[in-house]
Amino acid sequence: MPEQGSVLFSFSVSPDPILIISLFLYIRIKPCDFDYLKIIGKGSFGKVLLARHKESTKYYAVKVLQKKIIMKKKEQKHIMAERSVLMKNIKHPFLVGLHYSFQTTDKLYFVLDYVNGGELFYHLQRERIFLEPRARFYAAEIASALGYLHSLHIVYRDLKPENILLDSQGHIVLTDFGLCKEGVEANGTTTTFCGTPEYLAPEVLQKQAYDRTVDWWCLGSVLYEMLYGLPPFYSRNTAEMYNNILHKSPVLKPNVSNSGRELLEGLLQKDRTKRLGVKDDFLELKYHSFFSPINWEDLMAKKITPPFIPSVSGPTDLRHFDPEFTHLPVSSSLCTETLTAVTSSVKEAAGAFPGFSYGPPADHHFM
Ligand code: AMP
Repeated sequence: MPEQGSVLFSFSVSPDPILIISLFLYIRIKPCDFDYLKIIGKGSFGKVLLARHKESTKYYAVKVLQKKIIMKKKEQKHIMAERSVLMKNIKHPFLVGLHYSFQTTDKLYFVLDYVNGGELFYHLQRERIFLEPRARFYAAEIASALGYLHSLHIVYRDLKPENILLDSQGHIVLTDFGLCKEGVEANGTTTTFCGTPEYLAPEVLQKQAYDRTVDWWCLGSVLYEMLYGLPPFYSRNTAEMYNNILHKSPVLKPNVSNSGRELLEGLLQKDRTKRLGVKDDFLELKYHSFFSPINWEDLMAKKITPPFIPSVSGPTDLRHFDPEFTHLPVSSSLCTETLTAVTSSVKEAAGAFPGFSYGPPADHHFM
C-alpha cells in the first residue's frame, strides 16, 4: 500500500531553537492543505486547479488525476514518467516546476508552479499569426527546453498547443509531461503511439520507431503555425491531414524569411534521419541562421525582454483561461478522503503507484 495523504518533509536547519526542534517534526502534505479556487484546465486523466496553500497563501496549479481512469487506460508508466521528469526538470527556466506530488486512495496530486499568462495558442488565435521576431523568441525558448530534456535522455514527444503556456512576464513554460518518454538514449528509439493529430510526426503516425528528432518535428509544426496561422499539414478531414503529413511537402509561402523557411524545411523533414537535429540535436538549431539574432546565454538567463507581456493583475486574474473551465464548480471531494467502498478495483488503484509521493529537499519548502 502507498502512504495515504502523503509526503514527509522537514524544515531546514537554522540557529533558531524553535526551528531546530521543528527539524524533528515531520509535516504531512495533504489535499486539505490547499484551498481549491478554480478549475483552469482539463487533461485526459483529470483536471488542473488553481489552489492556494492555506498556510503560506502561495498559489499553485494542482493537477489532480484519477487513478482509476489512468489504470483503465493502462497509463501508470506514463504518469510515473511524468513525475520523475518533473522532479528532474525543476531547474530549467522554461519547464514547469514540480513542488510536491502526493496521493490519496483514489487520486494523484501534482503541485506545480502556477503559470497564468495563458496558453500560447490562446494568444495566437487572437492575433492569427505572430511576426517573425516574436515567433523566433518563443521557438528559441521552446528549443532550449527540448534540448535540455534531450540532454537528460528524455523525449518530450507531445509538444502541442495546449502544453505551451506563457508566464506572467511572457516567457514560455512547457507543461504536461504525461507523455514524455524517459530513458531514450541519444540514438535510441521507442515505439509507443500517442500524441496529438495535428503535430504527429510521420514516424509516429506510421507506428515506426522514433527518437528525440520527433520533438524537432513538433517544434517545426509549432513554428509553422505561429508564422502561417495554421498547422503545416492541416485539413479539417483527419484522414486527409494524415495523408498530408505522410506524403505532402509543407507549403512554405514567401511571406516568411528565407532562413525561417529553410529552418521549417529542415524541421519538417519526413525522413527523421535527414531531419535538422539528427546529428547534434539542439546545437544544430542553435546555430541555424534563423536564430542568429538570439543571444542564447541571455535567453537562458531570461534577460531578453519578452515581445509580449500578458496583462494579468495578479494570481487570481484568470482572464487568459478558458471560461469553459473556470466557470465549472470546484468539486468538494478534493479535500476530503473519498469514502468509497473498498472494492478490489479501489484496492488495486490504491496500490498501483508505489513511490509516487515526492517532497523537495529539506531546504526547500512552501514558506
Ligand atoms: P495538462 O493535463 O497538463 O495538459 O493540463 C491541462 C490544461 O491545464 C493545460 O492546457 C493548461 O491550460 C492548464 N495547465 C496545466 N498546467 C498548468 C500550470 N502549471 N499552470 C497553469 N495552467 C496549467
